Amino acid sequence: MITISKFYITTPIYYANDKLHIGHATSNVIADVLARWHRLIGDDVFFVTGSDEHGEKIEKSAAAAGMQNIDFVDYEVRKFKELWQRLNISNDCFIRTTEKAHEEAVKAFIEIIGRNQDIYKAKYSGWYCVHEETFWTELELKNGKCPECGREVKILEEDAYFFRLGKYQGRLLEFYNKNSFVLPPYRQKEMFNRIAGGLRDISITRPSVKWAIKFPLDQDQYIYVWVDALVNYLSALGWPNGANFKRFWPPDVHVIGKDINWFHSVVWPALLMSSGLQLPSTILATGFWTVNNEKMSKSKGNVVDPIALIDKYSADALRYFLIREKGTGEDGSFSEDAFIARINGELVADLGNLVYRVLTLAEKAGEDAKFEGRNELGKKLEMEKLEKSMEGIDINSGLNAIWQFIREANKYVNENKAWALHGAELSNALYNLLEACRVISILIYPFMPETGEKIAAQLGAKIEFRQCAFSPDGKFSGKIKKGGYLFKKIKV
Ligand SMILES: [Zn+2]
Repeated sequence: MITISKFYITTPIYYANDKLHIGHATSNVIADVLARWHRLIGDDVFFVTGSDEHGEKIEKSAAAAGMQNIDFVDYEVRKFKELWQRLNISNDCFIRTTEKAHEEAVKAFIEIIGRNQDIYKAKYSGWYCVHEETFWTELELKNGKCPECGREVKILEEDAYFFRLGKYQGRLLEFYNKNSFVLPPYRQKEMFNRIAGGLRDISITRPSVKWAIKFPLDQDQYIYVWVDALVNYLSALGWPNGANFKRFWPPDVHVIGKDINWFHSVVWPALLMSSGLQLPSTILATGFWTVNNEKMSKSKGNVVDPIALIDKYSADALRYFLIREKGTGEDGSFSEDAFIARINGELVADLGNLVYRVLTLAEKAGEDAKFEGRNELGKKLEMEKLEKSMEGIDINSGLNAIWQFIREANKYVNENKAWALHGAELSNALYNLLEACRVISILIYPFMPETGEKIAAQLGAKIEFRQCAFSPDGKFSGKIKKGGYLFKKIKV
């Protein structure tokens, strides 16, 4: 196993105009599980999430709400922070693109690229959609309308500054050939093909959008919101100065949504190549949720609010479902029925039931009972497979491996008829089962931190990775303090 001593992980910074739904929550939970896992195994972790706060859409929304731009984003960002707190997201930094230090970092970044002759002025003309703040080519339009949102587009011609993306085609192809960069692998192939198909230079400034960072090379221009946003991964570390930059750069994982894969997997590496900075190791482009097999959209009114689900079912249950229900990076289908089925069938019937019956037996064995025996159950835990999955950023497989072990532990109770055992046989069975629960409390902690802590507390044990194996002396040495049920069964 490769041990990384530092681990820098980021989520997308969400647009301050967005109403955060389970898709955003999934990206942040994936990043949080990975951050917690790496802290657990002893790595030096830095975990960033944040908000993307400039652009025309923000100006419009603020005006519609009768608010100043900055008051509008302040208000929206408070809701982001509340959600991440409710979901137990353990980010070390929340970066806002309206912070002075971020704005300075963006200007410094542009200046470096300019010095490297990668920026030039030209006329930009194209079909423009206000909603995505994006220009489209004639070919990309769908029935003459925006291919992304279906809204009307208008021809816009303006002075702009361009980044020489085309110049980096060869280096990007070489980089893609040498590295497994984008996950899942078919998304790497998709990006590779697009790079191979040719890269056009891209405009990085706008003259008209005022709610943006001033372009340092021309006072009449403003920096495009997506360039501004990408630099957050640097500014969050205090770049160009700052000890954190030296300590954590380059990023180990950028968790993103598949809709912004192009910017992260093609444009961002090219910008970094131009600036002479090291490239990130991995881009995890996650898929989307459909809701009852329909695309989630504001117009359909089927956007799933994570806060409502946390209120109803708990943060851990939601974290569990978002990771367990679909392959890491894949698309998935959300339904409340499927969610309840996993709560009742897995959180209650597998994990909750295991912990409750094992602690009941241990308590019944009495104050002076010894829990000693030979390791029988520990061999069922596929630790190597689990560690490999987590290293490979396949946390869905990691969670599946943990769940397999939970089911093995329940099977052990049944096959040994643990409730009917006495003396040395009971002591042996409880040694195995209590150690299993203790190891499970450590392993599920990154996925469900509150539940991991609750189980550890009932066992008088600690969440420590170096103790994440059956004790070699054949003794369980915790202190039993049985609690209530970990999860409540949902009536259907
Ligand atoms: Zn559009």
